[in-house]
Parts: sequence; C-alpha cells; structure tokens
Amino acid sequence: MGVWGHREAANLAYLGIFAVQHRGQEGAGVVALEPEKKKFSAHRGLGLIADIFDEFDFEKLPGRAAIGHNRYTTAGSNVLANVQPFYSQVSRGGVAVAHNGNLINTDSLRNELIRDGAIFSSSSDTEIFLHLIARADPKLSLIDAVTDSLKRTKGAYSLLILLEDRLLAVRDPAGLRPLAMGKFDGAVVFASETCEFDLIGANYERDLEPGEVVEVSDSGIKSYFPFAKEKPTPCIFEYVYFSRPDSKVFKQNVYSIRSKMGEELAREHPANADLVIPVPDSGVTAAMGYSRASGIPIEQGLIRNHYIGRTFIEPQQSIRDFGVRIKLNANPGVVSGKDIVVVDDSIVRGTTVKKLIHMLRRAGAKKIHMRISAPPTTDPCYYGVDTPSKGELIASRMSVEEIREFIGADSLGYLSIEGLYKASGGSEYCAACFTGKYPLGTPADF
Ligand code: AMP
Ligand code: SF4
Repeated sequence: MGVWGHREAANLAYLGIFAVQHRGQEGAGVVALEPEKKKFSAHRGLGLIADIFDEFDFEKLPGRAAIGHNRYTTAGSNVLANVQPFYSQVSRGGVAVAHNGNLINTDSLRNELIRDGAIFSSSSDTEIFLHLIARADPKLSLIDAVTDSLKRTKGAYSLLILLEDRLLAVRDPAGLRPLAMGKFDGAVVFASETCEFDLIGANYERDLEPGEVVEVSDSGIKSYFPFAKEKPTPCIFEYVYFSRPDSKVFKQNVYSIRSKMGEELAREHPANADLVIPVPDSGVTAAMGYSRASGIPIEQGLIRNHYIGRTFIEPQQSIRDFGVRIKLNANPGVVSGKDIVVVDDSIVRGTTVKKLIHMLRRAGAKKIHMRISAPPTTDPCYYGVDTPSKGELIASRMSVEEIREFIGADSLGYLSIEGLYKASGGSEYCAACFTGKYPLGTPADF
C-alpha cells in the first residue's frame, strides 16, 4: 500500500495492509516520509499487523507519504532483517522499497553486486533494487536511474519506491502481480488489491498497466513506459486462491471469476450427491458456483475456527490429524448419512484434503466426491507465490486416480486448464504452476 499527499499517510498505509493480511502473515512494516524535511521513519516487526502495531503511536511515523508491506517468505528467511519496506540512504538521498513478487535472476545479480563491493544486510531479493539504484550512473535523472536499474532485474515485481520528493509505483513488463491506483481525500493511493481502498474509503481509479511506472509528486502524476514491451502474463493463481474475493484484481472482480470456476467444474465433473460442502475459506466461492450450476444445495459441512494464533501447543503424545482439526472440523449434523461434493481450490501436498476426508467419514458422510476448482498443481512458482518444491507436489508424482486413492475419496475431479481460462476470461495468464510453462523462465535459466 502506498500513499502520497495525506497528513495521515502512515495510518492509511497500515490500514491498507491490514485489509490484505492474507497476502503475508510473517511480518509487516510501514515507512513514512516528511518530504519537507527529507526525513524517513520506519516501524517493522515479525508476525501479524495487529500485534506489530498494537497501541502504536502513529505520531512516530509523521509525514504526507508512506508505504506499507506484508511479508510472505518466498525468497530469504523469516527474520526481521527481511521485513519490508527496506530503507537506505544512497548518494541521491533516502530510498524506501516495498516489493510484491519474486526475482528470478537474484543469484547472478547478487554475486555481481557483492563482487562490486555491495554489503547486503538481508537475504531477500528485494534488497537488490536498493543496491542497483545506489550504483546507477550519477549522470542519469532519478527516474532513469530507477528504471535502468529495474531493467537489469528479471522476474515478478509490483513495486512502491518512496524517494525524498516522490513516490514511484511500478509493475513489471509481464504484469505478473497486481497493482492498482486510487484517490482518497486529495491523496494518491496504490494497493495490491482494491479491498485496501474499500477499507479506507478510497476510490479505485485504474490498474497500472504491465510495464508502467507511475510517478507521483507535489507537481502531479506522470506515467512512463520505460521497458521493452513483453507479452503480459498476470498470475492466474490470484483468481484461484491468493486474492480476496471482494477485490478487483487485473480489472476483474475475483469473486465472480472464482464462482465461474466452480460452475465450470460442475459442468466438467458432475456428481450424484445430496450436498455441496465448501472447504472454508479457500473453497467457498467456487463451491457456490458448483452448487448454482449443479442445482445441488450448499451447506456448511466443515466449520472453521477463525481464532487460531500463530502457534498452539500440541500435546506431547501427538493426536493424529491434530494439525488440520484445530482449524477445521466436520459437522455431523450436516454430513451424516449424506453423499457429498467437497470443493477446494487446490491440492498442494495432499495432506489437508486427506485429513478432511477422513474427518468427514468419521462424521458419517457416505460417498465423498472431491472437486478442485483448478488443474493439478504440478510445478512450483518462481514469481512470488510460496509453493513447495516439485517433488513435494503430489500432482507431480501421482496421476489423478492415484491421488484419489491416496486421499480416500470416492471420486476426484480437477477443473481443466481450458475451464480455468474460460472462467478467467482468456488464456493470457501465467498458469505455470499448472502447466510447467514459465513465461519468464526459471532461476535455472540465469
Ligand atoms: P496441502 O495440504 O499441502 O495439499 O494444501 C492444500 C491447501 O492449501 C488448500 O486448502 C489450499 O487452499 C491451500 N493453498 C494452496 N496454495 C497455497 C499457497 N501457495 N499457500 C498457502 N496455502 C495454499
Ligand atoms: Fe501465479 Fe502459478 Fe504463475 Fe506463480 S506459477 S505466477 S502462482 S500462475
């Protein structure tokens, strides 16, 4: 979340990232700027935003501009040094960066920068942006220095870069991750998802285009397209799982796409059943679509505990399936004696669904038809979504029939890639975790 031109900028950035806590729960931070004094201040911490900013006095983050970020570890480890926004003083002044996405040429760039004398203070790929900007040709204008630096990076980045007199918002040329622009009370605001605008009461204006740089300062708003044109390939997994259903992402409402995935799934894999049961919360929207298209009523056969802290104490003699049961429980009052269709968005390692099916059987469910509102997850993501290595992905090792047997379902159906594209309104997306076709390549290519 970014804000330029509001006296409560830091507080607004905090509220914005609060609305997208689902995008990262490992750490968070806000960096604020007083442009008149060229003074930056920061507050960062590990854990959830509510804890990091508990009774926080926002007077400690003064200024008319601010950027905020939630950390979700995809590169580097989960330590405070890796919590964003990053801030550094370079020859051109202070620079703060918040990055959503993941670079794929990190190793070669980092090695090159270290050979050149750069001292890294984190293991995150995001710090590379700061070192590149710090080393840019001093003859270049500030905007050229930033964009020339970005041209050397490969991968996914939606960025907010706060400089002493301006805020830059950048979307990588493939537009892998979202970034939207809005207006609030005379200020310009940026956010990954529009639900952040809704929380603060801002108006959504538009998405940044792939490859666009928007510069906001007291002189107004400018837009640049400094990068060589590439085929846009936004991340389809934002629609499948990652984004909140009430957000507009890549110009479309996530809820309506996700429920269309459920409708397509019902057409592709019908089932003879009494009830549709969503896996909360990830499967709820697709399950509504499945129910609507199939005419099978939807009921809450799985109940979620929303109050799980970051850690809980497991009994010494570990109870079987405890991990999933603390979060979800089967509801016998709904499922007992029934044939059910259970809908979730994805099977990653296969552990969750196997335990859920076991729980549903104990609660008395008869036939269990498992339906997944995306194709099998066969390949890891290198562009900013945390997925286990290929070997850990159950669908990279097993056929659909083998997975069905492993999880103990009576039938198993995944949405086809064509169905996924149809629901999402086209095939111009990255879908590499389902197809293995990486539009920008993988770290092994650099
Ligand atoms: P698993 O037990 O490994 O098969 O995990 C499956 C569950 O993880 C499903 O309920 C998904 O909604 C959820 N899920 C899918 N992708 C991700 C992800 N990248 N990060 C966290 N959870 C995910
Ligand atoms: Fe999104 Fe999957 Fe592509 Fe990663 S690999 S950017 S999760 S579609």
